[in-house]
Amino acid sequence: MMIAAKAETGTFEVVTENPDDTMRLGSLLGEILPPGFFVALVGSLGAGKTLLAKGLARGLGVEDVREVTSPSFVLVNEYRGRFPVYHLDLYRLDSYAEVEGIGWDELVSGPGVTLVEWADKVGEDLPEERIEVHLQWVSEEGRRLVFSGKGGKGRTLIEELKHKWEKER
Ligand code: ADP
Ligand code: MG
Repeated sequence: MMIAAKAETGTFEVVTENPDDTMRLGSLLGEILPPGFFVALVGSLGAGKTLLAKGLARGLGVEDVREVTSPSFVLVNEYRGRFPVYHLDLYRLDSYAEVEGIGWDELVSGPGVTLVEWADKVGEDLPEERIEVHLQWVSEEGRRLVFSGKGGKGRTLIEELKHKWEKER
């Protein structure tokens, strides 16, 4: 039997109409992320990955989110929230060997939340339990954000996010 158009569990698509909404979405998700969770931020330059990371950091309890900037040159920024928050930007990454050089395995398996811009650069080798956010430019102030939870916990988190967001609308 066919079940008519029901949004897939663990995925959530929103078109935000301004930067504040993107920030707010990040913050709502940050509030519910458990320690050790991995978030992949995927999308072209200017899509809003860093802004979403700022929101996530706020929700994770980082007090001064002005320190949340693209860590392109240092590769990893660390912030103090409810637990450590690692923010990576792999834009300039040339090879997988480089990511191993920065202690990827330790970052990913540790107790900190890991937020990774351009995570698609490392290919398939991402934690099974994770959240992926694909961001896309729609218009000057419009961005399409597609959240998908991978793994049981990831899917539950996205369902929770959807609920929190809709409650505010
Ligand atoms: P990325 O890290 O993906 O390169 P940034 O987050 O650094 O992108 O930049 C996104 C830019 O787009 C910011 O200047 C932000 O103010 C702007 N912007 C405009 N509308 C939005 C929106 N709805 N969501 C996110 N960013 C937006
Ligand atoms: Mg960025």
